[in-house]
Amino acid sequence: MSDSIAGFVNGVVDGSLSDNEVIDWLRRVFEDGLDDESTIRLTASMRNSGEVLEWPTEWAHLVVDKHSTGGVGDKVSIPLAPALAACGAKVPMISGRGLGHTGGTLDKLESIPGFRVDLTTTGLRTQVGEIGVAMVGQTDDLVPADRRMYALRDVTGTVASIPLITSSIVSKKTAEGLAALVLDVKHGRAAFMVERDRAEALARSMADAANGMGVATSVVLSTMDQPLGCAIGNGLEIVESVETLCGRGPHDLEELVCVQGGLLLAAAGLAGDMSEGALKIHDSLNDGSAFKKFLQMVEAQGGDPSDFESDHSMLDSLGLLDENLLSTEVFAEAAGFVADIDAMTMAQACLDLGSGRRSLGDDVDHAVGIILEAQVGDDVEQGDPLLVVYHRGVLPEGMSESLANAFTLSEGEVELQSRITDIIG
Ligand code: URA
Repeated sequence: MSDSIAGFVNGVVDGSLSDNEVIDWLRRVFEDGLDDESTIRLTASMRNSGEVLEWPTEWAHLVVDKHSTGGVGDKVSIPLAPALAACGAKVPMISGRGLGHTGGTLDKLESIPGFRVDLTTTGLRTQVGEIGVAMVGQTDDLVPADRRMYALRDVTGTVASIPLITSSIVSKKTAEGLAALVLDVKHGRAAFMVERDRAEALARSMADAANGMGVATSVVLSTMDQPLGCAIGNGLEIVESVETLCGRGPHDLEELVCVQGGLLLAAAGLAGDMSEGALKIHDSLNDGSAFKKFLQMVEAQGGDPSDFESDHSMLDSLGLLDENLLSTEVFAEAAGFVADIDAMTMAQACLDLGSGRRSLGDDVDHAVGIILEAQVGDDVEQGDPLLVVYHRGVLPEGMSESLANAFTLSEGEVELQSRITDIIG
């Protein structure tokens, strides 16, 4: 099959292959798999199907990005990209929109009035050159093969194939002309890959393909059973990202930002190793430099940095003080230590409130969502607040009960665990 891979990808892009021919090929890979070498060939052919970004030789070794397989409350990219730029990296971050139970970085950023994610390739190049960071959506010129292949996989039930996922994601990331990449591959009940073994297999496949194409790639395996941080919902996640950029973020979110940033700074030669890199990222969150980069990026992409001058102006600009936005608290029905918070229940509620997209093209409500007031490990009394729901109109029937039931309380103290279960590479 490997000899025909480049020909297949050409046929996908120039239209000489019919939909049925493309689907037959995808089904064969879905059923029989693809060896490592062929996966790299497929990924490289897909990357080469469109524009591949090039950077000035003086700083091409500093160009880094990350990819997350997604989850609930996963806003790591928003503090990470400016923090990396504050530490000297160049970050042309290309992200996606939310679909189903997972949120999308672009939807979160678009909560900021005026923020534009549709930069041209020239605009992206100029901004990364000038301020070191841009966070944008994919342009039409990057990896056109993936657009047709993914659309056909989506309607034929052939998405869940490790070589096809690998080639789809890694072709898009390597088309950014990266020197280094970190992959945040999640496992758990609200992850794309629920089983840890399968998440690790996907992680190794993506890392092998990206390394095979010359991009220094490492992987962080992390759990996605509970929401990440305390905020779920687009504008609310911007507030938590800003808190993190100012050194006041929740511990689990800050840990992922520092470790992923540390791996990238080390790979780019901006730190001796991951620990030194993580400390640099941590410092940038505490000395104001990461937040300053974030404000420069907001301004460069059409937003107004003065929106972030005070808590009031930030909440107001994000639509969180809108008088039509109602809030309802949910309280603990018993006392105990919080042992678990089911991320899928939180995600489902946020979808029902309108913060996410059931189908491509749906509108999202940037202001609705959930703030957790109790986290895993907390000791709560009966009647203590567990969370606040921000919603429009009457709260859907049964939602408060279902959200309260998403908390598992235990009698004994709960030991806090890192969300990171492994680092590869
Ligand atoms: N996301 C992608 O971009 N491609 C896949 O194949 C799966 C998830």
